[in-house]
Amino acid sequence: MTQADLELIRKFAGMRTVDSDYSPTINIPQQAIVSRDWDLCLLARVCTDRLVFDNQFEQFMRPIWDVTPGVSFTQVDKGLYLIELSNKNEVERISNGGPWHYRHDLVAIEEGIAFLTSLVGVALSDPITIRANGKKFIKVKMQIPIDKPLFDKVKLNHPSLGQVIVYLVYERLGRICLFCGGLGHEMTGCGERSRLVKLKKMLEKENRPEMQDILKPTRGPWITNQILLLSQGA
Ligand SMILES: [Zn+2]
Repeated sequence: MTQADLELIRKFAGMRTVDSDYSPTINIPQQAIVSRDWDLCLLARVCTDRLVFDNQFEQFMRPIWDVTPGVSFTQVDKGLYLIELSNKNEVERISNGGPWHYRHDLVAIEEGIAFLTSLVGVALSDPITIRANGKKFIKVKMQIPIDKPLFDKVKLNHPSLGQVIVYLVYERLGRICLFCGGLGHEMTGCGERSRLVKLKKMLEKENRPEMQDILKPTRGPWITNQILLLSQGA
């Protein structure tokens, strides 16, 4: 067995879609107030290599955006801020009118729950909300890296709601492999899976628990079929 084989096993061992924890996650810090109404939240990302300190961004942007005193700024990640505004007018004024600069760097703004799209790629359109079967879908035109595996869901760890899972459905992308998340082939034609089929056979006689479920899909079938989300409890 080669080093590449070992790495392949390591990559897929324990990575199952039902109980796996590999999906990208946004953690909303405990101190964030976080409205129940996502429509009042903006996510601001400072596009810079410089270190941006939490309160500096808030002190600088608060008067520029002229926001009401109750508005909260919370640093979610390096250079990434969750801003909870007081009303829809404030949201529209800032997301449509800016200013979108912090000192000399661009501030990229995303609205509402659609900020979860930042885990997937770059949003190219405003989100459209659709309701069906009592479920809420948000449709966004996205630019995504097609040379990387696609995720079937993203997670949001919310201080009061707990973990929220957002399932992803991709339209007009053709075939997506449910095993590796790659584009342009199906699970039956997946190179990585074929290699693992051979390795599993090779290692049959050894006691290797990590090989047990290794050939199962890592992505859910809803990834290209939203009908599946309508019918299940997702
Ligand atoms: Zn594949």
